[in-house]
Amino acid sequence: MAETKKLISAIVPCYNEEEAIPFFYDEVTRVAAQMTEVDFEFIFIDDGSSDGTLAVLRGYAQKDKRVRYVSFSRNFGKESAMYAGLEAAKGDYVAIMDADLQDPPSLLPEMLGYLENDGYDSVSTRRRTRKGEPPIRSLFAHIFYGIINKISKVKMTPGARDFSLMKRKVVDAILSMPEYNRFTKGIFNWVGFKVKWLSYDNIQRVAGKTKWSFWKLFKYSIECIVAFSTAPLALASFFGFLFCFAALVGIIVIVVRHFVGAAAAFGWASTLCIVLFVGGVQLFCTGILGTYLSKTYLETKSRPLYIAAETEKDLEEKEQAK
Ligand code: UDP
Ligand code: MG
Repeated sequence: MAETKKLISAIVPCYNEEEAIPFFYDEVTRVAAQMTEVDFEFIFIDDGSSDGTLAVLRGYAQKDKRVRYVSFSRNFGKESAMYAGLEAAKGDYVAIMDADLQDPPSLLPEMLGYLENDGYDSVSTRRRTRKGEPPIRSLFAHIFYGIINKISKVKMTPGARDFSLMKRKVVDAILSMPEYNRFTKGIFNWVGFKVKWLSYDNIQRVAGKTKWSFWKLFKYSIECIVAFSTAPLALASFFGFLFCFAALVGIIVIVVRHFVGAAAAFGWASTLCIVLFVGGVQLFCTGILGTYLSKTYLETKSRPLYIAAETEKDLEEKEQAK
């Protein structure tokens, strides 16, 4: 009796990718055809696109039974899209890849090899270089990884991409973390397991535009810090201690100057600066508290990570009803 083939689910988050999807589909099906030892399903997540992405996906689902899709009721972000894909995936192995071919499907055979023959549980990828990226963005990325790796126990790999192939048990571990404020790269590292890292050169996207503005990336990095470190919360204690110490030194200086007969006051300008400085630091620390509190607030609401408006099943039902 022939052994049943293992199934790979490829998850593809798509936000306004109508131009890129045909390129992606052609390439991924080409690679899938070469990998005869496994079966494939392709799960596209339409993350509330405003272009023709959903229509393109419907078209592929109709002509290729391996294509499945989940269409969100609005844009929930790539993190939610990846979670939806992991939930929908039925495969023994699950791959996450971008629709713009920046994550080359041609790496899949090599990645599968590590899982099947070398005892790894998942294969993650990172960019070797940041070529083709604006220098200011690279600089901030560098600073971000420097900070987060100092203050978080979970190590973040610089240049890590979401492109990965993992075994079912890793997928189940990730799905067991339904936190609302998600930072998948951190979650991958948090769950552990035996991970193989692959490096490849940065590739330009095949069509369409990047969905990440500088501001979006900045907010994403704050999200990561709040999700994986509580170190900023200790800043208030640190400043409090520092200022108490400075005040004590100041008091001693004033008392000593009084007894040696020197004037005690140094003028209002310096006082004003100190008041402003201390006030600023206090507000800054309150802001940090507020950031953590707001994340906690959102977590306690435990809202769903996404709302699906349509899947390939709805399409099938509609066709059968005809
Ligand atoms: N994406 C998404 N929802 C979003 C933003 C992006 O599903 O809100 C998808 C996007 O369609 C792409 C992937 O996430 O397949 C990576 O996005 P992009 O290529 O814009 O990011 P970059 O590669 O430039 O970091
Ligand atoms: Mg991209």
